[in-house]
Amino acid sequence: MTLIEKLQRLLDPLHGMPEATRQEFACWYSQAKLPQIRSVAFLTMVLYLIYAAIEQNVAQDHLGLRLLAHGILVPLALLAVGVASYFPAWHRWMLAILCVAPVSAVLTNLAFNRGSPDFAYFVPEIYLNLMWTFTVSGLTLRQATLTASCSALVLIALTLVDALQPGAHRLHFIWVLAAFSFGLLCAMVLEKAHKTMFLDQGRLALSASIDGLTGLWNRARIDQLFIEEIARAQRYGTPFSVILLDIDHFKHVNDHHGHAVGDSVLRQFAALLRDNVRTSDKVGRLGGEEFLIILPEIDAAQAQAAAHTLQARIRQFDFDTVLRKTASFGITQFRGDESPQHMLDRADRALYKAKAGGRDRIEVH
Ligand code: GH3
Ligand code: MG
Ligand code: MG
Repeated sequence: MTLIEKLQRLLDPLHGMPEATRQEFACWYSQAKLPQIRSVAFLTMVLYLIYAAIEQNVAQDHLGLRLLAHGILVPLALLAVGVASYFPAWHRWMLAILCVAPVSAVLTNLAFNRGSPDFAYFVPEIYLNLMWTFTVSGLTLRQATLTASCSALVLIALTLVDALQPGAHRLHFIWVLAAFSFGLLCAMVLEKAHKTMFLDQGRLALSASIDGLTGLWNRARIDQLFIEEIARAQRYGTPFSVILLDIDHFKHVNDHHGHAVGDSVLRQFAALLRDNVRTSDKVGRLGGEEFLIILPEIDAAQAQAAAHTLQARIRQFDFDTVLRKTASFGITQFRGDESPQHMLDRADRALYKAKAGGRDRIEVH
C-alpha cells in the first residue's frame, strides 16, 4: 500500500472498498441521520422563533421583512424539513432545503445587517451557521462541505471590502476561518467514525452468522436463510430443495484418531461441500457432523443429481489421516405452505432411510 493510499484509507475507512459496500453505507448513513435531522430541524425552528422575537425589539430597520424571514419563512422551512424526515418520498426535498437554507440565511443576514453599526452583533448567526451546517445539520460531509463553502464564499465576497478597513472588524476573517475549519474537522471525524462503526457492525454480524470450526453458515443463520427461501418460493412460486447430509461413522474418527483429526475432517468436508455447490446454494452446519444445503430454484430430481456429484467427490477425497469417508443424504423439495421444521423433518426421514439402507446413499422423500 502506497503512502497516498494509506492516507486515503486513514481519512476514509471505505476507500478502496467495492462500490456496493459504499452504496450500502450511504443508505445506512442516510437512515441513521434521520432522527438527528428531525430533532435539529425542530430545535433550530424554536431558536429562530426566539431570535425573531428578540430581533423585533433590537433591530433598527427592516422590521417587517425580518419578521417575515426569521419568524415565518425560516421556521416554515425547518418545519418542512422536520415533517419531510418522516416520509421517505420527500427526503430529496428535505436534503435540498437543508443544503439551500444555510446559504439563504447568510444572504438574508448580510442583506439586513451588512454595513450597519450593529453588524458585529448579528454576524455570529453566520459563524454559527457554518458550524451548524458541518456538525449539526445531519448533512453528509460532502453535502455539508459544498453548502458551507458556498456560504463562506458568499460571506467573504460580500464582506471583504468592509472587513479590510482598519479596525477590530478585521477579526471577522479569523472567526470565519475558525468556524469553517472547526466545522470541517468535526464533520470529517464524525463521518469517519460512522464509517468505522458501519464496517465493525458488518464484521460482527458476519461473525455471529459463521460456524467457528468450518466457516460455513451456523445453525442460526441457516435457519434464517431457510425462512427467507420459503418466503421467496411462496412469493414467486419457484421450487427449491434441501439436502441434509450426515457423515457416516464419524464417531469412529474421533474414537480412533482423536478429536483434532475429527475437527480437521469436518473442516475438509465443509470445504468440499462449499466448493462443489453453486454460488447461489447455501451451505450450513446444523451441528456435529450434520450439514444442510439449501438449493434455490432446484427441484428434487435436480437436487438428487447435485447430491450424486457431491457423493462422488466425497468418495474420492483423501481426508486427513482417515483417508476415505462417506456420507448419507436426505433430500426433499418444498411443497408449498409448510414450515422449515416440517420440511426438515421430511429431509431427516429421508436421511434416516439412507442410514438404515446401509449408508453412503441418497434418499428422496
Ligand atoms: P452415523 O453413521 O449413524 O451418522 O454414525 P456417527 O458415528 O457419524 O454418528 P454419531 O451421532 O454416533 O456420532 C457423531 C459424533 O460426532 C459424535 C461426536 O463426538 C462427534 N462430533 C460432534 N461435533 C464434533 C466436533 O465439532 N468435532 C469433532 N471432532 N467431533 C464432533
Ligand atoms: Mg454421522
Ligand atoms: Mg449425526
